[in-house]
Amino acid sequence: QEKVLDVLIVGGGPIGLACGIECKKAGLDYLIVEKGVLTNSLFNYPLNMTFFSTSDKLEMGGIPFMSISHKPTRNEALEYYRRVYMTWKLRVNLYEEVKTLSKKADLFEIITSKGSYLSRNLILATGFYDLPNLMHVAGEDLPKVTHYYKEPWPYIAQKVLVVGGANSAVDVALETWRKGAEVTMVMLGDSVDPNVKYWVRPDIENRIKEGSIKAFTNSKVVEIREKEVLIQTPEGVVAIENDFVLAMTGYVPNFALLDQLGVELSLDERRQPCYDQANQESNVPGVYLAGVVCGGLNTREFFIENSIVHAEQIVKDILRKK
Ligand code: FAD
Repeated sequence: QEKVLDVLIVGGGPIGLACGIECKKAGLDYLIVEKGVLTNSLFNYPLNMTFFSTSDKLEMGGIPFMSISHKPTRNEALEYYRRVYMTWKLRVNLYEEVKTLSKKADLFEIITSKGSYLSRNLILATGFYDLPNLMHVAGEDLPKVTHYYKEPWPYIAQKVLVVGGANSAVDVALETWRKGAEVTMVMLGDSVDPNVKYWVRPDIENRIKEGSIKAFTNSKVVEIREKEVLIQTPEGVVAIENDFVLAMTGYVPNFALLDQLGVELSLDERRQPCYDQANQESNVPGVYLAGVVCGGLNTREFFIENSIVHAEQIVKDILRKK
């Protein structure tokens, strides 16, 4: 007879860990299952990334988040969440991917890459960083194209095309240009995104104005070839020489696990999962949603700062029903 958990949490990102802490405080029998390293999404971020949140806003479990500057770096955040994990002695199975979820009578059956579990409740805290928003153009699968930027060194003296006009695209364009890449940006709108960090905006606007970084606005990539890229511009299609394409086109949550359980998504372009905002419970009783995944395709709606609270709401509801 398999042991039955009170709660199985899918995803060991910041919000999955926050849920683990609340379960532990409440004395629930819980397990976090994470397919990669601890806080896998943060681990895969650009190496020089700095958070837009101040460190105090990212704190959980009563553990102070100290960072040298008021906004922490990727390394500081990785270290912080490691300390959260160690201090709270959270139960996290790493390098174990949840493959299928189903409901059997009153219990959920969870099948992973390493085994299977039964649980009374499920929390899906799977984030949004696993699937890139594809451009769907010929050549997107060439090895010179990436949706995950790490660091500027490979691009010294290379012709780089940065696709997109939001924060990631702007950061990547500036960082690679400062290391000597020849940078062109292509963006759908007529300027960089209005949400670009206010302290970064003048930097990118001035680089574009002075011609250091070339920008095609109201434009999109139509084809990527070995040595060039074709761009649809208001003046027609132009071909530019190219060595690397850094496609900073955003990411989308993986809805597969939600579909398996019958969690409904809104029919509009947001594809927002259906859940009760008071307790984060989806339309499937016992299935709770936490973190970025709650925003559907609007991946900007929820972030660490405003999702930590989901953990408390969920555990309160689980205790109420117990
Ligand atoms: P994630 O951190 O994405 O965690 C989800 C986890 O689930 C991942 O570890 C993933 O590996 C795991 N997982 C997925 N599927 C499975 C599966 N089938 N089985 C097992 N595990 C699975 N937010 C802020 O609040 N402040 C900031 O300053 C900030 N800066 C950012 C900068 C960048 C460049 C980016 C890209 C994002 C930034 N964000 C910021 C957003 C923030 O990273 C996310 O909001 C945060 O990661 C959300 O946490 P989460 O736990 O919901 O999801």
